[in-house]
Amino acid sequence: MTDILIIGGGIAGLSVGAALAPHASVTLLEAEDALAYHASGRSMALYEANYGSDTTTALARASGDFFIRDTDYLSPRGLMVIAKQGEEDAFARDAIKMNLQSITIDEALAKVPILNRKVVTNAAFQPDAWDIDTDRLMQDHARTIRANGGRIVCKASATKIRFEGRWIVSTQTEDFEVDLIVNAAGAWVDEVTKLAGVAPLGFIPCRRSVARVPAPGGHDTAPWPMFFGVNEGWYAKPDAGSLCISPADEHPTTPHDAWADDMVLAQGISDYQDVVTEEVTRVQSNWAGLRTFSPDRHLVIGHAPDNSAFFWLAGQGGYGFFTSPAASKLAADLILGRASELDKSTITRLSPNRFSS
Ligand SMILES: Cc1cc2nc3c(=O)[nH]c(=O)nc-3n(C[C@H](O)[C@H](O)[C@H](O)COP(=O)(O)OP(=O)(O)OC[C@H]3O[C@@H](n4cnc5c(N)ncnc54)[C@H](O)[C@@H]3O)c2cc1C
Repeated sequence: MTDILIIGGGIAGLSVGAALAPHASVTLLEAEDALAYHASGRSMALYEANYGSDTTTALARASGDFFIRDTDYLSPRGLMVIAKQGEEDAFARDAIKMNLQSITIDEALAKVPILNRKVVTNAAFQPDAWDIDTDRLMQDHARTIRANGGRIVCKASATKIRFEGRWIVSTQTEDFEVDLIVNAAGAWVDEVTKLAGVAPLGFIPCRRSVARVPAPGGHDTAPWPMFFGVNEGWYAKPDAGSLCISPADEHPTTPHDAWADDMVLAQGISDYQDVVTEEVTRVQSNWAGLRTFSPDRHLVIGHAPDNSAFFWLAGQGGYGFFTSPAASKLAADLILGRASELDKSTITRLSPNRFSS
């Protein structure tokens, strides 16, 4: 059996690990004390098949079978965009891009009763957006890896990587000799690549901040849809009895343990506040995570052109969960030499080869 080492214990590493473990000898390394400490523990956990570039929506649609037909990781959420006077053009563009149907202000208020009818001039909605039970999804992937004889090692940062016909990957405590490395290190993918002597591709980690506020006006937020300002200027999503508000920031940075910027959060809360009747008086908690994009914002899935024993699974941006079933399946198909169900053009456009000509 091929010995495969996956670097990264977020949704990317765990999902590909679960797809590979029945067919190969899999070890997954995670630098932190626990899995999903970085981006994968900080997401909004939404499945929405119309969000992102065309290759992202292709992966999202291909993931739909797993999520919608074959499993119970999803629960209904719905998605609504609202606009103020002067935002009509942006609203019309969003409605087309996100496949939304216009609804009346009364209908919008029935969904989110705190909207300010003196300010909100347009609203549009679509029901095909779901909450993903991300914790359970990742725990199940970890269980699948272990049940198939795979190993998951936390507190194990790959710090030295040498290629001598096989890879020798060193952590603080142990060396691993393997045939193939899968680079699923999130914001650190280029750092891992440099350690391995493979050409980095120029990934850009971008900070996104979130504030959790108490349920506005004591409402039960559970049935509310996720609601957005135009151009994804900000958004709000019910979460465990509270409301999470994000300024939808996309601040380019370097790989690190991200934290929210107070001024950016305040601006997002102020933009949200403009369209609702209930004042935000308290922030319960806040956090930020890194959404990491490739230079052309498409995911990167494939063997490195400069070393076929090195495999990229990177650049999940803000789409890592809802693309993970199809992205991990494609990665496993390419690694195991199986035919993929995805169309050839999508596979080519996701391949790292696109950066080498
Ligand atoms: C605020 C926010 C909202 C989001 N909302 C959504 C959403 O609604 N839906 C959605 O699908 N996606 C969403 N995302 C995006 C999603 O969270 C990411 O795309 C996804 O989590 C990326 O997963 P990953 O496994 O690639 O990265 P990570 O979860 O960051 O995992 C990479 C891991 O690699 C480890 N690592 C790095 N270097 C090494 C090394 N040398 N050795 C060992 N381990 C190493 C890190 O410690 C890290 O744990 C959101 C992201 C944010 C920040």
